[in-house]
Amino acid sequence: MYVGRFAPTTSGPLHLGSLLAAVASYLDARSHDGQWLLRLDDIDEPRTSANAEKIALTTLEIHGLEWDGVVVRQSDHRDRYWDAIAELRKKELIFYCTCSRRKLRNTATYPGYCRTRLVKPSDPASIRVHVPDRKIGFEDRIQGSVEGNLSVGEGDFVVMRKEAIVAYPLAVIVDDDITGVTDVVRGADLLENTLTQIFLIETLDLAIPRYAHIPVLNQRNEIKLSKRDQAFAIDNRVPLLNLVSALHMLGLDPSSDHQDVHLLLIWAIEQWDVRNVPKEVAIKDFISI
Ligand code: GLU
Ligand code: ZN
Repeated sequence: MYVGRFAPTTSGPLHLGSLLAAVASYLDARSHDGQWLLRLDDIDEPRTSANAEKIALTTLEIHGLEWDGVVVRQSDHRDRYWDAIAELRKKELIFYCTCSRRKLRNTATYPGYCRTRLVKPSDPASIRVHVPDRKIGFEDRIQGSVEGNLSVGEGDFVVMRKEAIVAYPLAVIVDDDITGVTDVVRGADLLENTLTQIFLIETLDLAIPRYAHIPVLNQRNEIKLSKRDQAFAIDNRVPLLNLVSALHMLGLDPSSDHQDVHLLLIWAIEQWDVRNVPKEVAIKDFISI
C-alpha cells in the first residue's frame, strides 16, 4: 500500500515551490491508488502561526488537493522525538553541544569541540549526533543515484536545538514512520538532507521510504523562494492557472480547456509519470506570476 504525504511548514502562506511539491506528491499517490496525508510541520513555534495554517489548508482546498484522514501535526509527536533521542543515546551516538553560533561561524563542518560532552551541562545545549565516515546513498526516482559522506558535509548534526525544538531531519523521519509513509515526494532542496535522514532511519531500524525529489524553482535563477517571501505566495484567485503551470513544470502538457481544478486533476492523475518530471525548472516556466 502506497502512503504519501505533503508536509508544509506553517510559518507563512504556501509558496509556488510548495504548490509544486503538493501537486507532485498528490499525483504520485493518487496514480498509485495510494493515500495522501497532510502533515503540518508546526514544531518551530516561534515561526509558525495559526493564520498561516488556515491559509495553507484553504490553498490546498481551492486547488482541489483533498487529503486523506485527519490533519497530522508535528506538535503531537513531541514524545516520540524524545524516544528517538533516547534510542540514539543508548547507542552512544549523541553528545551535548554548547558552541555558540559565533564559535562555529567559519566552519562548514562541525569541528567536534564538544564530542566528549556526554552529561547535560547547566548551560543551554543542543544535542548532536556523531556521523560515520562512510558513504551513504540512495536511488532517487527523479534525480537518480545520490550519495555522500556526512562527515565531510555538515558533520555531527543537531537533532535537538538549544530551545528544545527538534531539528528537521529527526522530526521528519519520526513523523513519516508514525504515519506509515512509504513514498516521499518533495523538493530537491532536501536532496542532501535526505542522506542525513537515511542515516537516522538506518540507525533507528526504521523502514526507508522511496524518494522522488522534484526540481526546485530557485535552482537556476537563484531567487530565494522561501515562505517568508510574500511575493511568491500563491494567488488563490487563479487556482486553475496555478495548477496548469505546476503541471507544466512537472512534465505534463495540459490543454487549456479544463473547466475546473477537479477535472484537471483527474486528467493529470491518468497522465502522471514520474519519469517525465525534469530534474530542474526555471521560474519563468511558472506562467501565472
Ligand atoms: N516541512 C518541510 C518543508 O516544508 C517538509 C519537507 C519534507 O517534505 O520532508 O520543507
Ligand atoms: Zn559544540
